[in-house]
Amino acid sequence: MQDPATKPIPCDKRRPAADDLLAEVNASYGLDPNYVPGDLVRLGDYLPGNVTLPDMVLRQPAAKALGQMVKVMLADGLAPTVLSSYRSYFEQAVAHQRWVVDDPANADQISALPGHSEHQLGTVVDFGSPEMPALTGSNIDKFSPLFDQTSEGRWLAGHAFEYGFSMSSPPGSENLTGLAYEPWHYRYIGVDMASYLHASGYFLDEYLLKARPLMPCLP
Ligand SMILES: [Zn+2]
Repeated sequence: MQDPATKPIPCDKRRPAADDLLAEVNASYGLDPNYVPGDLVRLGDYLPGNVTLPDMVLRQPAAKALGQMVKVMLADGLAPTVLSSYRSYFEQAVAHQRWVVDDPANADQISALPGHSEHQLGTVVDFGSPEMPALTGSNIDKFSPLFDQTSEGRWLAGHAFEYGFSMSSPPGSENLTGLAYEPWHYRYIGVDMASYLHASGYFLDEYLLKARPLMPCLP
C-alpha cells in the first residue's frame, strides 16, 4: 500500500511488488506496458494436459493454488478447462483488437484495453466448461454469462475462495470495473482476502475503494 504522504505514480509506470496480490487493475487504473511478473511458471507443470495448454503461464503462487483447486474439481467429477491465463500487454492488445473487429460497440466492455487487464498480473484464469456449447448453442462462444449455469461455474462461485480465487467482475460490478459481468474470470488474491470477500459480498475493486480510497496510481 502506498504511503499517503507520497504522490501516486503514473499508472503507465506502475509495477506491482511481487508480494502485492491486490493491485487494483481496471478500466481506470492500468499497469506499466513493460511490466512482466518475475515468477511466471508453466501451467503444464501444475495441471493435467486436458485442463490446460502446456505453454500457458501464471505466477507461481497462483499456479500452485490452481493446481490444488482443479485436482479437487476433477475428483468431484467436474471438467474445468483453462481458456486464458497470463497475457502480456502486447497479447492483450491483440486480444482487444480482435474484439474491436468482431463487436465494435461492446469491445471495451468485453475486453479490457491493453495495460488495463488483470490478466497482465499473471494471477488470473478464465475457465471453460464442456457444458457451454449446449447452453450457448455455439462452439465458439466460450465467454458468455451463461458460464454461471454450468456445473464448473457453479462450483467455482461456491468454492473458489477456499483456494484463494475471487470473481473480479460479479453482477453489478460494471460501473466500478468498467467491464461486463465475467463469471469465468477468477483472480488469485490469497485465501484470507478471498474468504473475506466471499463472506462480506464485496468484490475486490469495491473493497479496495473502501479500504484505500487514495488512487493507486495517476490515470
Ligand atoms: Zn479474464
